[in-house]
Amino acid sequence: MSFPIPADVTSFIDGAFVAPGAGTRLPVVNPADEQQISLLHEADAGEVDRAVAAARNAFAHGPWPRMAPAARKAVFARIIELVERNLDELAWLETANTGQTLHYARRYQLPRILGSFGFYAEWLGQATELATQDGDATLRYVLREPLGVVALISPSNAPTALASTKIAAALAFGNTCVVKTSEFTPLALARLMSLLAEAGVPPGVVNLVNGRGHVTGDALVRHPDVRAISFTGGTSTARHIAATAGEALKRVDLELGGKSANIVMPSADLDVAVDAALLGIYTNNGQQCFAGSRVVLHRDIADAFIDRFVARAERIRVGHPLEASSENGPLAFRGSYERVASYVDIARSEGCKVLAGGNRAPGFDRGYYFRPTAVLAPSNAARVCQEEIFGPFASLLVVDSLDEAVAVANHSRYGLVSYLWTGELGEAMDATRRIQAGNVLVNTPMLSLDPRLPFGGYKESGVGREGALPSRYFYTEEKTVTIALTPPALPKLGC
Ligand code: NAD
Repeated sequence: MSFPIPADVTSFIDGAFVAPGAGTRLPVVNPADEQQISLLHEADAGEVDRAVAAARNAFAHGPWPRMAPAARKAVFARIIELVERNLDELAWLETANTGQTLHYARRYQLPRILGSFGFYAEWLGQATELATQDGDATLRYVLREPLGVVALISPSNAPTALASTKIAAALAFGNTCVVKTSEFTPLALARLMSLLAEAGVPPGVVNLVNGRGHVTGDALVRHPDVRAISFTGGTSTARHIAATAGEALKRVDLELGGKSANIVMPSADLDVAVDAALLGIYTNNGQQCFAGSRVVLHRDIADAFIDRFVARAERIRVGHPLEASSENGPLAFRGSYERVASYVDIARSEGCKVLAGGNRAPGFDRGYYFRPTAVLAPSNAARVCQEEIFGPFASLLVVDSLDEAVAVANHSRYGLVSYLWTGELGEAMDATRRIQAGNVLVNTPMLSLDPRLPFGGYKESGVGREGALPSRYFYTEEKTVTIALTPPALPKLGC
């Protein structure tokens, strides 16, 4: 199975891909063999301005913000139908420039587009607002209005799935948008643009700009007609975005990095805990915000756990991402590979013991293949326990009690997720209350996200939440209207 890759990736503005502009040209590289597979035409500030103008025009004059929910729902239904029909192609394109295995992209990542549009399609048919009456005096109600043009920025590890969640939410509430993903991974999202247009999303409602963060991303965030920014990516990038947006008092939703603790207590089912810990850190090569990258083991089970974990990590099949037998492919881009590799030396210099991996996967002269790696850290203060590595790199720690495990989990500038494995209800109840993280999972890895519930992080893992209710507030203005039911009795000034 293979699909055509466009020779050029350009911006999608007002319902069509534009001709290449004067901006910088960047190679789009297949991380499996380091070959250039396409050419990205970076949108400069002028092109970003055109995209925002198209979105603003569609918001001011187009049908989308004024459409009845049933009509928007019908468009979402057509999007779902078309995406379902083209899922193989979208997954293949995602694999071609992210390196995630095709079966993972096809089975888990890209179907999230269907989940997001499906969820908001249902929501569109059911959402209501409340009204309140103050006796015979007044009727008060909330008019919920779309914000206008919103910027939606997604990262390299799940460029299309995460952008589509934002697009579905922004559109459900009547906004128009300009989307940007990582310059390393633009292919499948660009293809999604044409499917959205084919499904009947009016021109200008969803626009796409491509390019590097400090060029295209910065111009988008700064644009005065962009009312809000929904960003998923790294914590240091978010600081720039928040500072720029803050000056103009723009709304931001920031979904950021993590260094999540995966705590295993003696009462846990060790077989399942080992399976889940491996999935938790090595799925998609550890390029997941919610990766369980710190494995915190109670001393009583530490040796048994480590033996099994390390033996299995060593056997994970790293291979070409199109091969059905590959459990992991290459990392998404060169910088990511180099960053992960650099942490092996950092770990050694800090007294960590390398238990598994630690180097390039054998059998590949080219491509960003890194072996699943595990190190035993002497303390949670080690950099490999404090910094997000964003790769197949597990940092293992041994503790003596649940109290110590919770303290280790919380001793982090991040707070996205914590996992706990225990057979004791009391331990679960106690730890879930004390752990500082936006998501705590007991006896299960993160298998799916439920859009009915908030997802986001404490501390430097984020500001705001995604999910139905938080999105409802993020993507809308609320206007409280008060109407007199009977003439009010007013004091008569000046009589
Ligand atoms: P990144 O921060 O380098 O880039 C993310 C996006 O921001 C890209 O589209 C990039 O081009 C853009 N960008 C960069 N600088 C910008 C600027 N100054 N202005 C506007 N846009 C800018 O992140 P990445 O390497 O692509 O992704 C990995 C990071 O994303 C990790 O930290 C990971 O934990 C995080 N992430 C978080 C979640 C979550 O839901 N919390 C989900 C997935 C990934």
